[in-house]
Amino acid sequence: GGTVQFDAVSFAYDAQRPILQGVSFEIPAGHTLAIVGPSGAGKSTLARLLFRFYDVGGGAIRIDGQDLRELTQHSLRRAIGVVPQDTVLFNDSIGYNIAYGSPGASEEQIWAALRAAQLEDFVRRLPDGLQTQVGERGLKLSGGEKQRIAIARVLLKNPPILILDEATSSLDTHAERLILEALNAVSARRTTLAIAHRLSTIVHAERILVLDQGRVVEQGTHAQLLAAG
Ligand code: ADP
Ligand code: ADP
Repeated sequence: GGTVQFDAVSFAYDAQRPILQGVSFEIPAGHTLAIVGPSGAGKSTLARLLFRFYDVGGGAIRIDGQDLRELTQHSLRRAIGVVPQDTVLFNDSIGYNIAYGSPGASEEQIWAALRAAQLEDFVRRLPDGLQTQVGERGLKLSGGEKQRIAIARVLLKNPPILILDEATSSLDTHAERLILEALNAVSARRTTLAIAHRLSTIVHAERILVLDQGRVVEQGTHAQLLAAG
């Protein structure tokens, strides 16, 4: 399962100003759709609607044919994993930060997630500002490392649907390569909605949707969009 369908979705934070207008698309189970468009186009809003942070103003969002509004919060949270732009860490070890949302995970599963995100060396370290009982200082984590922690969390949680929000913005080349490798591991065979500013960060997307001022202006494969100019 994991088919995601947006059917003529509209939304406004404030009735005077529509943000999304008649947005329709479908992501077949296991496929990746990248959403690109200028800042303010409504990309993050669209992701928030899929996570049901807000309800649609008009139209419907369906997962495997079922309206989001008919799903319990619990099953929705289980169905969807998010790799956000800014990852919030708890004041505990990085290993704990990855495992906390998956209490049933085995040691083996935790290590597999850490390996895929290339975080094995970090597992017992603490985030910046903390200190262990033996006086070892916490690590100052880069934005890319925090994103890999978020990716490892999602790998462990193993949801059928994934939202990636600008997952490789503002990274250097090496950090970006590590992220892309981890993203390929996490998005493989998962229904993925990937939000991006730059096309180079979404090479693994089968289809691309261009959003501008809350409307779908183009939709197709990489090659189709290039041909259309
Ligand atoms: P095939 O198995 O023939 O290579 P796919 O399984 O890749 O085809 O895709 C099946 C159909 O779903 C194709 O028409 C393809 O364009 C479409 N498709 C694949 N990914 C997406 C997506 N993210 N959003 C919308 N349609 C998609
Ligand atoms: P994008 O992700 O494409 O940059 P957003 O979805 O973040 O676009 O924003 C789309 C529009 O909605 C922008 O004009 C933004 O200012 C507005 N907006 C975003 N979040 C809120 C909010 N919580 N309350 C009111 N307006 C918002």
